[in-house]
Amino acid sequence: MLKFYNFDIVFQEIPDETTLAVNLTNCPNHCKGCHSPHLWADTGTPLEEESLKTLLIPYINGITCFCFMGGDAEPEAVNHLAGLLRNLYPKLKIGWYSGRNEIVPEIKFSNFDYIKVGPYQEEEGSLKSSTTNQHLYKILSSGEKLDITSKFWRH
Ligand code: SF4
Repeated sequence: MLKFYNFDIVFQEIPDETTLAVNLTNCPNHCKGCHSPHLWADTGTPLEEESLKTLLIPYINGITCFCFMGGDAEPEAVNHLAGLLRNLYPKLKIGWYSGRNEIVPEIKFSNFDYIKVGPYQEEEGSLKSSTTNQHLYKILSSGEKLDITSKFWRH
């Protein structure tokens, strides 16, 4: 089961969106230099259909996007909850931050508007670095993905 450590309203993780970002635990990637090693353990508050709906209620009118931060140990659960949000709130953008190098097949593009891939690699830097190995894709209605990583470099 997916579990989360905390959540926050953020403005930089997804460009041009006001995002409710939920930090999921049980991260299997264990990147060297990880800024959030507290997210490695399988602990936290369960995130499933009912708790996700409850979590969103106070924020839904003030956000434009919801982002799953992590969840690589259970991508099918991330995809399932993204699909639930898609049906409940069709205008809400949905994002996923994955630490994998590729988008795994469990992920259905139509459930997402943004997907970030790539582990953190100290020598290449975060998304804010023009040498980063990570990519943020915007998922287009055609199902194609547009690399918008360079949006992080202009600010
Ligand atoms: S994916 Fe993120 S949380 Fe997981 S180990 Fe890498 S930097 Fe840390």
